[in-house]
Amino acid sequence: MVYEEVLEEAKNREITEKEALYLFKYTNNTEKFFSLLKTASYVRDKHLGKEFKLWAHIPSTTKGCVTFPPCRYCWHSSRIRGIKSVNKNASPEEIVKMAKMAEKMGFEGVQPGGGCTGKMGKDAIEDTEIIKRNTNLKVYVNYGYDMCEESILELKKLGVERIGCQLEVINPEIFYRIKPGDNLDKRKQIMEIIEKHGVGLDSGIMIGVGETYQDRVDAIFYLKKFKNLKRTSVCGFLPIPGTPMESELPATSRDIAVTIAIMRLVFRDIDIEGSFGRDEQLQQWIMAGTNIRLIHGLFRLKNSRDGFNKNPFKGKTVDVTENFQFTNLLPFYLKMIEETGLKPGLKNAGRDEGK
Ligand code: SF4
Repeated sequence: MVYEEVLEEAKNREITEKEALYLFKYTNNTEKFFSLLKTASYVRDKHLGKEFKLWAHIPSTTKGCVTFPPCRYCWHSSRIRGIKSVNKNASPEEIVKMAKMAEKMGFEGVQPGGGCTGKMGKDAIEDTEIIKRNTNLKVYVNYGYDMCEESILELKKLGVERIGCQLEVINPEIFYRIKPGDNLDKRKQIMEIIEKHGVGLDSGIMIGVGETYQDRVDAIFYLKKFKNLKRTSVCGFLPIPGTPMESELPATSRDIAVTIAIMRLVFRDIDIEGSFGRDEQLQQWIMAGTNIRLIHGLFRLKNSRDGFNKNPFKGKTVDVTENFQFTNLLPFYLKMIEETGLKPGLKNAGRDEGK
């Protein structure tokens, strides 16, 4: 195979598993890295245009993840007090207020809360009902393997846009080493049920946790078989203070960008999102072919610590309810998106703070 020829072909057709593995192995200098990103941007623009979608994360009625033992990289396993306190649940009235603000700002949709709460999707239904009854926003719910067929059917009836069930790592040895309380087979089963009922699926991969390039290719092409996959993402491992994995090397932004770009050459016309918790790198994810961002940290519990998700822009903060506040991080996102030549997908450009 010749590197440049693979990229030239990729402009007009999906790459194969062999080509994906080749690109992982041979994107080994800056020139090839930029050629790969340029091709991924070309494919994104060709199939999805120049609009970059923006979604908002809002707190939900969920009380947080009950996976035990918690995943070894997750803030739930941090011994540092305070990091966990950011996940307080909101009342239905508070959700309505925050969702309406997000709608007024022009977001396409919202994701309420998340985590495996042990309720088999009941809280996803409750949150979706509240948001759908009070706004015209699209809704994405993400409760991992903590879902069941009955809830999936109920969510379908409510018109949910996507149900999340992240694959994370396809290699079972690595999966259970970093996620001892989770269940890979259950995740796959839930993904199959979501697919069976024709509901939008949201599933992505995690990198930088010891997986091989072949593991990544296997995961990408496993996801490829889902016809209803509407959004995928690459989550680069980022060590969180106080967790059992706090001293391990983070995934580098270059490695994340290469993985996103290769995924764009496979998934040509669906939404692809970059890595969580590193939004100062958004422009690199955009150059690698992403077309969507779910913004965390806009709506937060008052006086909560930043946890691990530190945004370099602090933004102006206003109270939304007695317990929650809104921080206007949008100027930073709009600047980053516009500088790449894309148009932020906010109906009123997000310059109205929704008040
Ligand atoms: S399932 Fe998700 S939220 Fe729960 S412990 Fe694991 S990474 Fe954290």
